[in-house]
Amino acid sequence: MTVPRTRAFAWLVAAAVAVSATGCAAQQPPVRESRPVLGTIVTVEAYGPDASSTRRAIEAAFDAITGVEHALDAYSPTSTIAAFNADPYHEQPLPAEAVEILDAVEQLGVSDAFSPTLLSVVRLYGFDSTPSVPPEDDLALALAATRTFSRTTSSTAAFGRLRVSDPRLDPGGRLAPGLDFGGAAKGLALDRAREALRARGVRAAIVTAGSTTVTLGTKPDGSPWRIGIEHPRDTATVMAIAEWTGDGALSTSGDYQQFFERDGVRYHHILDPRTGVTARGLQSLTVAGRISGLESDVLSTALFVRGQEGALAYARERSVSIWLVDSSGRVRSSNAASEAGVTVRAAEDR
Ligand code: AMP
Ligand code: MG
Repeated sequence: MTVPRTRAFAWLVAAAVAVSATGCAAQQPPVRESRPVLGTIVTVEAYGPDASSTRRAIEAAFDAITGVEHALDAYSPTSTIAAFNADPYHEQPLPAEAVEILDAVEQLGVSDAFSPTLLSVVRLYGFDSTPSVPPEDDLALALAATRTFSRTTSSTAAFGRLRVSDPRLDPGGRLAPGLDFGGAAKGLALDRAREALRARGVRAAIVTAGSTTVTLGTKPDGSPWRIGIEHPRDTATVMAIAEWTGDGALSTSGDYQQFFERDGVRYHHILDPRTGVTARGLQSLTVAGRISGLESDVLSTALFVRGQEGALAYARERSVSIWLVDSSGRVRSSNAASEAGVTVRAAEDR
């Protein structure tokens, strides 16, 4: 969302599109549009009935993305979620986009590792302002607030609130708690963009926000979508390539996207909800499969937190493909069952 993204993200956008565009030179070229949105550059490349209706469809896709951003960007004072966070201790309606993410986390069975309540904890690290290692008592207090989130559902809407009595957790204060859907909002936004394209007659498209990519249908020449996965310590290098035809999604979470170092220790933006501390053990983790963008985005964050053994076990159980780089730079991967037709391979194997 508004969290600043590194050059690596912009580069991956370029890589995703460049790799996907190969092999279709003889066909009518796709319409391509890139815009700064969701705190990064989003690129849509679409094969529609004709150029002008494809352009209109792309416009609708960006509108859909902006809609999700307006609902969920915790760092924008005018978003729906910022209004919730201004008064999180009173029960308030949750935006439909938030409910969709909460439901996905539950359905995927990763509530232990994906928490949308870590706003105050992420802020304590000051990744986008003044980086610092939070004092333990601040961390404990902020973390205690995250565990008090509850939601209730009526026949027409869902409501949420946090329950906190400590005055140090005042909504206007330094430890102000709140909801942060930044770990999944891009995926949801790209899903909405894809549906906007589909509804307007686009038969094939790739939409990428760098760390998350979704595809719609199959390119006119039948060639697979090919998405580059960057090396977490050398983001100019494509270390692996994911491939599939038809609808699918891919997300990467990494310790290099927002981080600082203190005394030789890297502190990055993916936090273990049990401790509030930077999740250890991996440099990056990519999930790809016959899943939605929302699912891939939730899973890359959650499986990064679970670590390599937990991630690989989950991938085998749920038939998604995984590519991970551990903290010493060693790669491990697992491909979805062959009928899924989603593969991730080392770039040099191709
Ligand atoms: P991603 O790049 O999709 O893995 O999302 C990382 C972002 O999600 C961070 O910048 C935080 O805003 C938020 N976040 C960090 N840790 C978690 C977590 N364990 N569960 C959910 N969101 C998280
Ligand atoms: Mg994510």
